Amino acid sequence: MTDSRSAYSEGDAGRRSGARQGSTADEIRERTNIVEIIAPHVSLKRAGKRLAGLCPFHPDKAPSFTVDPDKGVWHCFGCGAGGNVFHFLMRAENLTFPEAARKLAERLGIEFKGRREDAHVRSERDLVARINGEAARFFQRELAKCAPAREYLSSRGQGDEIVAHFMLGWAPADWDALYKHLRRQGHRDADIEKTGLCVARKGGDGCYDRFRARIMFPILDADERVIAFSGRIVEGYEPTAWQDRASEQGGPLPVTLQGSASERGNASPKYINSPETALFRKGRTLYAFPLARKAMGDRGRALLVEGQFDVIACHAAGFTETVATLGTALTEDHVQVLRRHTGRVYAAYDSDSAGMKAVLRSQELFEAARLDVRIVCLPQGADPDSFLRERGAEALAAEIDNALTAMDYRLAAIAANHPDTDDGQLTMLQEAVEALAGLRDAVAQTHYIRRLAERWCKGNVDRVRLMEQALHQELRKKTPRVRRSREGPAPPLSAAARVERQVLSAIVQSEVTARRLLGELCAEDFCDDIHRRAFERLIQKVKATGALNIEEMLATEQEAELCALVSGLAMTEDAAACSDAELREAVERMREWREARRCRELLDKEQSAGLAIEERLELTELKRQHGRLTARRTIGEEPA
Ligand SMILES: [Zn+2]
Repeated sequence: MTDSRSAYSEGDAGRRSGARQGSTADEIRERTNIVEIIAPHVSLKRAGKRLAGLCPFHPDKAPSFTVDPDKGVWHCFGCGAGGNVFHFLMRAENLTFPEAARKLAERLGIEFKGRREDAHVRSERDLVARINGEAARFFQRELAKCAPAREYLSSRGQGDEIVAHFMLGWAPADWDALYKHLRRQGHRDADIEKTGLCVARKGGDGCYDRFRARIMFPILDADERVIAFSGRIVEGYEPTAWQDRASEQGGPLPVTLQGSASERGNASPKYINSPETALFRKGRTLYAFPLARKAMGDRGRALLVEGQFDVIACHAAGFTETVATLGTALTEDHVQVLRRHTGRVYAAYDSDSAGMKAVLRSQELFEAARLDVRIVCLPQGADPDSFLRERGAEALAAEIDNALTAMDYRLAAIAANHPDTDDGQLTMLQEAVEALAGLRDAVAQTHYIRRLAERWCKGNVDRVRLMEQALHQELRKKTPRVRRSREGPAPPLSAAARVERQVLSAIVQSEVTARRLLGELCAEDFCDDIHRRAFERLIQKVKATGALNIEEMLATEQEAELCALVSGLAMTEDAAACSDAELREAVERMREWREARRCRELLDKEQSAGLAIEERLELTELKRQHGRLTARRTIGEEPA
């Protein structure tokens, strides 16, 4: 399936080759007032010719979020995000490029003409949503008719009101009840199959239903369209007739229909989901998100649970900020959706579950998104649904108040796994340092090291200081060099990166400079990967068109990190302006560093594998040049 986002970059290719397909995107961008689009999301105040406000994409204390209405560009100096009006909408409202473009076009009263495929994908999405909507109503009517299913729900404490609120339904045990219904509504087999609700029979003779004898949970997107379903078996409900009819029909049991290995076991899996469609991506969907969105914002937190019944039980108990992933681990897309609506997530998982392990492993993801994650410690084997039934809402509220940070939880788990002997404690410390090495935040590392040292020294105050030092030393050995993150405050730039950025900024500022540097620098002169790519894109633009239009480049660039870098360069032009002499100096240093890098590379190879004759010559030449350079000026700062 084509991701509609890719249409964006291909549209760019179309434009470069002279086709006019993408021209509507340009028109939309030129006619849209970026301030009007951002204003509902960010309260902006004028600051000179720009506007500034608190960034909606990271917890911002100073107004780091800046908009330049003349350039049509926004940038956050806190988290480094940035781009044009499309990027803002895509990010703020979780839209694909065609969706953002269409939304802006509608506002202007014009039609967005995406590529033909866009229109195709769009109509397929509309179709899937329409059929899913009809199926949801069908399942709801079936639930009203099925007493055992209703009894099951009420035995789990789900009253009529909550059943209606979540649009719960019942898929009958028949092989093709839904299929027949959809056919009666006039839908073609091919269209029904696109929803994943029905599967074509092997013989080519119609379809059969994917979901049978299951409680149906419609999954809604932000626009409250039904994009997919989860179906859950009812324990104790055994439609034995199924098995017989399965052999009669020669069709597979529902179990075998699912793609994932966990769902292909011998027993019916508890939950099955719709397969991914034009409309449904498991990895970016959160169950009950549209119902929880408002409470998430109001309460400044989200409660993350594992199963649909957990979500429903939490909502029924007043925790209306609850959502769940759909049988997948948390993905970066999930984290971004959560991040846009809240700063803190409470994970209330069964402590032994795969979900809990995944949350603990996702530490880096959360940190990068500056999302504060707390672990709600439920008793072993309990989930929020069972916990609420046994202990009630107040007890859950108390557990939420006592939630641990993910690191505290991990450290406690590590400590619990080792005996209180010297050996055991030593391994415990090693594992703890290993865990701490994954933390990006040095302040947090210091905090946890103190706690570890205190625990280790058992109240012997004099030893704590020494222990702390030792642990810091251990940690330094393990902590990898500064990593780049797409969000969160940017790590301090190395000397080399600073110089590279200066050069890029000069290119962004002036076409004349850009054209001149085209002859003097090549992509390999940049040691930072993102700088190298930005240089390539900028130069590509100049080469192709002879001109450099930042706004246009942003309009056709889909890579968020690159957009953020370029929008930042465009915003900092005044401050970063450098003289010709400074620029020459910068370019020269970059070349020296490149040679130094190559020199080291060859020396390493000489040590390990030996050098070919031409490599040996190259090395000699590099050494000679390096000697000449160092005689003139000592290279103080080496590139990272
Ligand atoms: Zn920001």
